[in-house]
Amino acid sequence: MVEIFYYTYVIIVGLLIGSFLNVCICRIPKGESIVTPSSHCVKCDHKLKWFELIPVFSYLFLKGKCRKCGEKISLRYALVEMLTALIFVILFHKYGIEKIGDFIAAAFFMSVMIVVFFIDLEHMIIPNGVVVTGIIGGMAAGIYSAFINPLEIYGDDKWWNPFLGAVIGFGVLLLIALLGYLVYRTEDVMGGGDIKIFAPIGLFLGWKMALMTFFISVILAGIVSVILILLKIKDRKSGIPFGPFIVAGTFLTYLFGWDLLNWYIERVFG
Ligand SMILES: [Zn+2]
Repeated sequence: MVEIFYYTYVIIVGLLIGSFLNVCICRIPKGESIVTPSSHCVKCDHKLKWFELIPVFSYLFLKGKCRKCGEKISLRYALVEMLTALIFVILFHKYGIEKIGDFIAAAFFMSVMIVVFFIDLEHMIIPNGVVVTGIIGGMAAGIYSAFINPLEIYGDDKWWNPFLGAVIGFGVLLLIALLGYLVYRTEDVMGGGDIKIFAPIGLFLGWKMALMTFFISVILAGIVSVILILLKIKDRKSGIPFGPFIVAGTFLTYLFGWDLLNWYIERVFG
């Protein structure tokens, strides 16, 4: 019975945080404050009342339009809210109340990564403010793990694991970018934001799972790029942002990273 209470709570918190992530996704690329002014229609500036701010439900109730001017509200708002709640539920299912520290760390980082996903998809950038938020959160996770309760994702209780993760994650990506530059004479192989985001990935997931995240993202990006080129949605020249694959790779690593690594080790060495 108490489980239902937990899950209801996780869903509500997920929807509300998703609503805040929408504000971040809209305003950060424009260089606007994420605190003021309060939410308003992008066309007519109509200030949203409380009943127009309820995640998902307001979107349905308003039939996807501004109440004042009738401007279409992007379906993305409701989508981000539902996606955030869904990711929170899946993470809570994995960790449960017994590993609440692991859950909060993962939910926090995936929230940051949802912002990365949508901003990079639209603007092909990963803003520094988002990376710094991830780094601060990741350091807090590392400190929590060292002094209070070791986080499961690190795979050991060495205090330096997440910090080594940041160095290795950042370092590997930087190396690939440098090689890409030397071989192809272009900076397109790996964007600056893609390199930087691996610092918080290392802090939150530890060095082993940071590398796993990298492998999974590259494989995902490869598969999806081939499909997009075959379907002629993208051609070889038009860029496909790598950020969204890193975000998907991070989530998959949270869920399956260790199982995958153990399976691989057993296959190769066992
Ligand atoms: Zn309006």
